[in-house]
Amino acid sequence: MLKKIISLTAIAATVLLFACTDDEEWPAQPDWSQIPNPDEVVDDGLLKPAACGNNVVAHRGGASECKAPDNSLASLRYAIEQGCYGSECDIYWTKDDNVVVAHADGNCKINGMYPWEHTLAELRAGGGLSNGEQLPSLEDFIREVKKEECCTRLWLDIKNITYPSTLTQYPINATKRACEIVTELGAKHFVEFICTGNATVMRSAFAYAQDADIVYDGAKKLLLEDIVPEAEPAPAVPENPRHPKKKKAGPALRCVGVRGTSGREYRADAVLVATGGVSYPTTGSTGDGYKLARQAGHTLVEPVPSLVSLVSHDPDCKKMMGLALKNVTLTLFEDGKAIFDEQGEMLFTHFGISGPLTLSASSHLGDMKKHKYHAEIDLKPALSEEQLYDRITRDFALLANHAAQGALVKLLPSSMQPVMVARWGIDPATKANQITREQKRELVQLIKHWRVSIDARGDLAHAVITSGGVSVREVDPKTMQSKKALGLYFAGEVLDVDAYTGGYNLQIAFCTAQSFANHL
Ligand SMILES: Cc1cc2nc3c(=O)[nH]c(=O)nc-3n(C[C@H](O)[C@H](O)[C@H](O)COP(=O)(O)OP(=O)(O)OC[C@H]3O[C@@H](n4cnc5c(N)ncnc54)[C@H](O)[C@@H]3O)c2cc1C
Repeated sequence: MLKKIISLTAIAATVLLFACTDDEEWPAQPDWSQIPNPDEVVDDGLLKPAACGNNVVAHRGGASECKAPDNSLASLRYAIEQGCYGSECDIYWTKDDNVVVAHADGNCKINGMYPWEHTLAELRAGGGLSNGEQLPSLEDFIREVKKEECCTRLWLDIKNITYPSTLTQYPINATKRACEIVTELGAKHFVEFICTGNATVMRSAFAYAQDADIVYDGAKKLLLEDIVPEAEPAPAVPENPRHPKKKKAGPALRCVGVRGTSGREYRADAVLVATGGVSYPTTGSTGDGYKLARQAGHTLVEPVPSLVSLVSHDPDCKKMMGLALKNVTLTLFEDGKAIFDEQGEMLFTHFGISGPLTLSASSHLGDMKKHKYHAEIDLKPALSEEQLYDRITRDFALLANHAAQGALVKLLPSSMQPVMVARWGIDPATKANQITREQKRELVQLIKHWRVSIDARGDLAHAVITSGGVSVREVDPKTMQSKKALGLYFAGEVLDVDAYTGGYNLQIAFCTAQSFANHL
């Protein structure tokens, strides 16, 4: 029998997929006893989509990829040809109780008309799609997917109407009518709904789609049971009798499920916490995984923002804000010792420094209360100090009668020139041909070692990843199972594992999740 698994990233819908704004109440929970268990195959005599080995949902039929118009039958056919699990499309109710598939403009108009004020025929008469198709109806779309061998479901996005005012009745009509059409065409297994940001519409969808399945529910608490800890199994290699390996007691807890924010309990043989870190909370990662891990007794390595811009109180940064530097070397120093050194691109901002080099450097920062940090930028890494000195000498000879700032015109970007002169300490009126050897040597040092104090990390809200998290010492690296609670697993950024940008963090998430999956 398949094990029942809960992945906290996706206690998600299989028939209805909803999202809701916080300012409106969630709809009343459906009667769960009436909802069929998705694990049980029920033969209701209706055609079902063919087996699908992926979770890919094409946006508006993958229109941007196949160059067909959004929400066209051509783009839907493309998604079907690709074997996508789903194809998203946008729906509106029309005055003649029909459902049109289209993406209205910012004023909620299709072909210059409010769809709810016009019949489908009137909307169609207003103009076709750029590939010559007429505006499709929901029926057209359902007929396209409801074919033998098709594995693609429609994801119907019930569009909100916000212009000329918020009108909830029409999206509700769209939901109701769409459910009727789906039932009439026996296409229940080919359709799922998306209902974004409108709880009223969602409530109505519940009312009409009686056999709605599981609704998204955030995990709030682990369901843990005490167990008698078993001693760790004997090691595979014979023990050294002089130094017998200490046998530690195994976990004293078993995780048997989670309680959602709705209060509903989800029981499972395996619970995977893959809730991400605490950075960039707009992505939904708000540190819940840490609370769940703590509940099971896990140790947390302090989560801090990483791959993040760096704050510098150096006023020169603000003076050069917006200046992007290419092919420079950034060296990060901790208590005077170089701990990072790379060539690439960076940026000055109003609060300090940013850009790819800075983000990478940030992941090397330790405890900023204990250590002092500064960065040095080599603005001309391709030139040795001697070569740079010669180059400056040539430039100054060429620009002999220019004042100090003007003499730097070939050497530095314009927004840096006045800042450099100020830091150089030279009288700005000094002509290039009056600049002494000593002053040129000082300039070389400034260009090769432009110093920026590093005073803080940028904020969590804008950090690409969180460094820190659930200590990897307490997780079995082969299975990702917790050493504190059987049946509890961790994957991804919630763990104390992180890396540079470039796909490595995603790779960590994929690999740890795969290790978990392999173990089941
Ligand atoms: C702007 C940006 C750019 C990035 N670029 C790159 C890049 O180029 N390369 C790279 O390798 N990495 C990049 N990353 C980092 C990478 O996206 C993450 O490291 C990776 O997505 C982590 O995967 P995850 O599955 O562990 O967590 P996430 O992708 O954060 O997913 C966690 C999910 O859990 C859900 N969740 C949270 N709490 C709960 C709860 N209580 N119940 C149920 N669900 C919950 C969240 O809503 C979220 O959907 C970037 C990140 C950001 C923010």
